[in-house]
Amino acid sequence: MAGLTLAALLAQRGHAITVYEADRLGGKLRRIEVGGLSVDTGPSLFTFPGVWHRVLARLKESSDPLDLRPLPGGLGIHHTPFGPVPLPVRPGHALHADWLRVCEAAAPVAPHLETLLTTPPRFTSPAFLRASAALARATGPHPTAEGWIRARRVHPALAHALRTHALNAGLPPADAPALYALLPALIAGHVCRPAGGMGVLLDSLHGFCTARGVQFRGGVGQVDAASGSLTLDGGEVARHDLLVSAIDPARLAALRGLPMHSPLPRRTVSGVAVYAAFTHPVALPATSIIPPSNFAAFRAALRAGALPPDTLALVHADGPRLAVLLTAPATARPLTPEHPWVRAQLARVEQVLNMPGLLASASAIRVLDPSHYAQGGHPGGAIYGLGHPVWRGGPLHPQPYCLSPRLWQVGTGVHPGGGIPAILGGALIVDQLLAQS
Ligand SMILES: Cc1cc2nc3c(=O)[nH]c(=O)nc-3n(C[C@H](O)[C@H](O)[C@H](O)COP(=O)(O)OP(=O)(O)OC[C@H]3O[C@@H](n4cnc5c(N)ncnc54)[C@H](O)[C@@H]3O)c2cc1C
Repeated sequence: MAGLTLAALLAQRGHAITVYEADRLGGKLRRIEVGGLSVDTGPSLFTFPGVWHRVLARLKESSDPLDLRPLPGGLGIHHTPFGPVPLPVRPGHALHADWLRVCEAAAPVAPHLETLLTTPPRFTSPAFLRASAALARATGPHPTAEGWIRARRVHPALAHALRTHALNAGLPPADAPALYALLPALIAGHVCRPAGGMGVLLDSLHGFCTARGVQFRGGVGQVDAASGSLTLDGGEVARHDLLVSAIDPARLAALRGLPMHSPLPRRTVSGVAVYAAFTHPVALPATSIIPPSNFAAFRAALRAGALPPDTLALVHADGPRLAVLLTAPATARPLTPEHPWVRAQLARVEQVLNMPGLLASASAIRVLDPSHYAQGGHPGGAIYGLGHPVWRGGPLHPQPYCLSPRLWQVGTGVHPGGGIPAILGGALIVDQLLAQS
């Protein structure tokens, strides 16, 4: 997604662009077939549509092919050990007053988030400085999501629900930047999805590229930044004026023949994604979230590369399609549906949702596990690459976009806590910096 977005933006400026893709276009977002149904893998929730609109504006596209629709139920029902919590919390709910306090504390950041996502993080930029100052004021002396949530002194059920969203950074709340604790309040009312499914995002980016003459070729085996040359998997050498990597920084280093270590305790989480097809619509809300019962035990297990006793599960239901996403450590471990841990976690999900035997009644199931994500993405299958210290997380990402005069980089690994808005925003940033350079 990052590579396609930047390819379209650079082609729009009149450059001749070639995209090299080792597997299938889309990376983590791709279409697979499950029981005769087309299923989109990877991202399910589209947030910060304003960033997408900025991409469209820079491409001078006058219509939006995504037809984004609000997702019923917002961020969904969070089945905490202290009771279910819908986010957003509606008026009349016992937790509404606490939720309003969280929203008030987060509100000053709302006008600045798009700036943080799309502006090069330079202390010479007044817009970046204003946005960072607003964020610093809202997070106060609490650098982590856990610290910020504790300081709100809200009901334990709401606090537990808020903690789950630290995982948008790919990290448990004690390791994630405080911004991620504010996110539920900032996005709960604006979560959406393209009417035709997430695959339409991939189709649109691909279409923008082909309309601008972008060429597509196979994967890359070696990168020589000094000469701008790429050795393709077949042995052919291709030369370019400029190279932009949209792969993990450690993987790129290996392609350049440089050592780059990716230590396990610093990796963001991986996952087991279970995609199930049914012959009838599944009677579940669009999104259900089942948090770990104990975040400290969850964090300790992830850092040790062990399977958490009970993990964070996200359940997305869309007619006859169901996705259950289980959080797992980034150890590139194969975790099939028969694995005892996977079976126990899926049984827990069914029990909490009061749907015993749900997955057994599916007409077909496909599973993508950490070994799959490791193959195409980051070491260990870490979905968002390395987890950086809190002061470098989220939008405060003093990342080296430019590695050498002829080698730049974009993508999830460059924007920790990536996700669609950070990937699109990162492509806008690199496009702007390249235009200036
Ligand atoms: C289960 C799951 C759920 C998610 N849910 C959400 C969500 O709800 N909302 C959200 O915003 N985000 C979500 N995300 C995150 C989001 O999907 C990713 O951050 C995003 O797809 C990453 O895009 P990318 O372009 O940076 O990287 P990737 O998708 O990993 O793309 C990298 C590409 O590089 C290619 N490649 C690798 N090596 C080579 C090589 N040597 N030569 C050529 N090509 C190579 C790969 O084949 C791949 O196509 C989710 C992710 C997962 C896995």
